[in-house]
Amino acid sequence: MVKCERCGRAVEETAALKHKTDAGDYEVICQDCFQAATGVDYQTFAFRRENAKMTLLAVLFCLAATVYAFVEKGALYGALGIVLTILVYLFASKKK
Ligand SMILES: [Zn+2]
Repeated sequence: MVKCERCGRAVEETAALKHKTDAGDYEVICQDCFQAATGVDYQTFAFRRENAKMTLLAVLFCLAATVYAFVEKGALYGALGIVLTILVYLFASKKK
């Protein structure tokens, strides 16, 4: 068990969150304080973070495929790959 640095409540280590303050320090807080501090509940925050990670992976994959297509198939396919990458990025970042 750790203690929330904001409200002083004891929280499970697995439920405790590391939050970066405006001053740049890290504080260990509970999920309720996290919501109060950021205005977004932790589930939504975790979901968004996961989403961003997936978007990054998809874009990296497309970039790798683009490079491969460019080398193996030529500039036309490379250009198609770039268009595809941009489309994937736009689609993924629009989905909230
Ligand atoms: Zn708290």
